[in-house]
Order: sequence, then structure tokens, then C-alpha cells
Amino acid sequence: MERTLSLIKPDGVAKNIIGEVIKRFETAGIKVVAMKKLHLSQKQAEGFYAVHKERPFFKSLTEFMTSGPIVAMVLEGEDVIAKNRKLMGATNFKNAEEGTIRRDYATDIEKNVVHGSDAPETAAFEIAYFFSMMEIVG
Ligand code: ATP
Ligand code: MG
Repeated sequence: MERTLSLIKPDGVAKNIIGEVIKRFETAGIKVVAMKKLHLSQKQAEGFYAVHKERPFFKSLTEFMTSGPIVAMVLEGEDVIAKNRKLMGATNFKNAEEGTIRRDYATDIEKNVVHGSDAPETAAFEIAYFFSMMEIVG
């Protein structure tokens, strides 16, 4: 069993598709083992995306991530990191496969509806960034 962090970004929450995103996870056999809605501060967004701090889009990305509430979830399942990335689709929705969340709902390379951890090490960091052990109920 593996765990990963999923975020529904401010554009996804604003589009009222929280349920639609969760339905796709559950349909794929993925379990939601923790969930909360929150509004990140600029500092919290910068800490979360620290790996991207040298990128030209860092300022815009962190401002977007603080522009409204998000939903954070811990997902659990076999090979869930890769499975979630597949359900999300490519970063740029224009390159995302048909039937993926980003292909169906993203409008912009930045405003791409969802985040998913990309490796076991980043998943461990990102889950701990949002949730304490007691908030994760497997
Ligand atoms: P995420 O980490 O959010 O799951 P990802 O792993 O597909 O997405 P990353 O390369 O980690 O993509 O980039 C993080 C986020 O930064 C992207 O999801 C997107 O919102 C934004 N981003 C990435 N590349 C660009 C770009 N060239 N211009 C603007 N924003 C970008
Ligand atoms: Mg990433």
C-alpha cells in the first residue's frame, strides 16, 4: 500500500468540481484516508512549492495557490502515486490524455485543477506538510 498527497487547487474548488475529482479517485479504487479544506498563506504556499523556487513561474504559482481555498487529501492504494498522476494528466492540459482531470477541466498550464506528489519522497514530505498522523485514518 502506498500513499500520496492530492490537492484540488483554487481553480478546481472555484469550479465546484470537488466531488467530480473525488469520484474519479474512488472509481479507480483509490481510498481517501484524510481530507481538509484550507486557504494557504503566501508563506505556506512558498514552503510547499520550495522545489520550484528558482523557476520563473514561482511567484505566479504561489500567488495562484493562495488565491482561494484548496482541498488537501491523502490518497491510499496500490501504486497510488503513479495512478493519481495518470488520472491527473500532463501538467499542460493541452498535452494531457483524453479523459484525464486536467484535459477535462484545466484552462491554463498553471491553473491545472489538481496537484499530486510525484515520488515516494515528495509524497512523504507533502503529506506531513498538511496532515498529522492522527488525521490520517486508513
Ligand atoms: P503539480 O506539482 O502541481 O502536481 P506537476 O508535477 O504536473 O504539477 P510541476 O512541474 O511540479 O508540475 O509544476 C508545478 C506546478 O507549477 C504545475 O502544476 C503548474 O501549476 C505550475 N507550472 C508548471 N510549469 C509551468 C509553466 N511553464 N508556467 C506556469 N506555471 C507552471
Ligand atoms: Mg510537481
